[in-house]
Amino acid sequence: MPRKTKILLIEDHEPNRYLLTFLLEKNGFEVVAAPDGPAGIALAAREKPALILLDIQLPGMDGHAVARALRRDPTLAHTPLVAVTSYAMAGDQAKAVEAGFDGYLEKPIDPDLFVEQVRCHLRPADPEPGR
Ligand code: MN
Repeated sequence: MPRKTKILLIEDHEPNRYLLTFLLEKNGFEVVAAPDGPAGIALAAREKPALILLDIQLPGMDGHAVARALRRDPTLAHTPLVAVTSYAMAGDQAKAVEAGFDGYLEKPIDPDLFVEQVRCHLRPADPEPGR
């Protein structure tokens, strides 16, 4: 059996963590999750995920600060980084790109589209489970 593609989810809201983990695992991904920025950064360094989903609204260190910290680690500098946020404010997308995000998903997540949206951001060399 091919090794599963590992996704790191950094999200403080437990029901969202549960839903996104469920959808990803159901589609053959392995998920590691953290409830805040510092825990997520430590997990990213240890687990070297294929992609990181990062909530912008986190307690303490916000998603933009977490993104900048992840990008400063040379081993994580090229890991696809996707913002997950309910901030639908003007200029937010530009700010996300500036912080180093590769993509942007808006809450509420559409369960029918979410996994395909994640797959779109995986590097081509990564195995795509379930295919
Ligand atoms: Mn949040």
